[in-house]
Amino acid sequence: MRVVVTGGAGFLGSHVCELLLDRGDEVVALDNLCTSTVDNVAHLMDRDGFRFVRHDVSQYVDVPGRVDAVMHLASPASPIDYLGLPIATLKVGSVGTLNTLGLARGKGARYLFASTSEVYGDPAVHPQGEDYWGNVNPVGVRSVYDEAKRFGEAVTMAYHREHGIDVRISRTFNTYGPRMRPDDGRVVSNFIVQALAGTPLTIYGDGSQTRSFCYVDDQVRGLVALLDSDHVGPVNIGNPDEFTVLELAVTVLELTGSASELVFKPLPQDDPTRRRPDISLAAEVMAWKPEISLREGLTRTIPWFQAC
Ligand code: UDP
Repeated sequence: MRVVVTGGAGFLGSHVCELLLDRGDEVVALDNLCTSTVDNVAHLMDRDGFRFVRHDVSQYVDVPGRVDAVMHLASPASPIDYLGLPIATLKVGSVGTLNTLGLARGKGARYLFASTSEVYGDPAVHPQGEDYWGNVNPVGVRSVYDEAKRFGEAVTMAYHREHGIDVRISRTFNTYGPRMRPDDGRVVSNFIVQALAGTPLTIYGDGSQTRSFCYVDDQVRGLVALLDSDHVGPVNIGNPDEFTVLELAVTVLELTGSASELVFKPLPQDDPTRRRPDISLAAEVMAWKPEISLREGLTRTIPWFQAC
């Protein structure tokens, strides 16, 4: 296949490009580098079938030649990134999704929209299955990401219904691993960087809120399996092992051998209190499940931050 990956130089996107190349696909990676870096794909530049184009998909998208699939991953994804780029985040999830759906339509390509567990907001249902409609504050600070992704899902389904585009929608739950930016502000990167530096680990709130952390290799394997599947409609991709933020902090301290203290900071506005995917649909439609435990994934991730 010849696959266009938007956000191809990002944390997830670069791993997706690599997996696609490894299995023999050609990849055109589009990225405006607003929260990513070409360093993430430097090792792919000389590989046959890989092409990188610096482009903002909120502007008209043209890719010459055949395209078999479009994977729209581009978006600021860390809370501090999308809170700092609110309008760009809304644009890439809305106009960027329209533009890339237009590309898929013009090329007769399959389309995957990378959505997020954030569409569930602060969930009133636990764990979250795809049939849960969510609990999002539409005017809160996080809405720039949540509502952009919700619009993206809606327009993806509209193109399927109106134009017959073959679409997939992934809902990614908290994913971590090598190529996360040390300063991207997410909890896994913050805790590892702080632990390695011997500075206090910053717990927001009392640390009782939960997340379910998925190692990047499991996540990208799931994204590509979803692209290959024949399931139209949203599918959760995440690791259902749920941890409190406090448990994560203690595990990071243990695995890094750090003596850092814990400090408690205010909880950000609309921070979800709990999050855990129901992944039975992913098991059913693409025979996928995560294989890497949190401890194993953190052990593989820590050297990345040591080298940064
Ligand atoms: N968090 C924290 N300390 C940090 C960064 C984040 O306690 O230094 C918390 C944050 O408030 C949230 C959870 O960790 O409850 C996950 O935050 P992250 O930004 O990684 O992802 P989110 O799931 O909120 O998008």
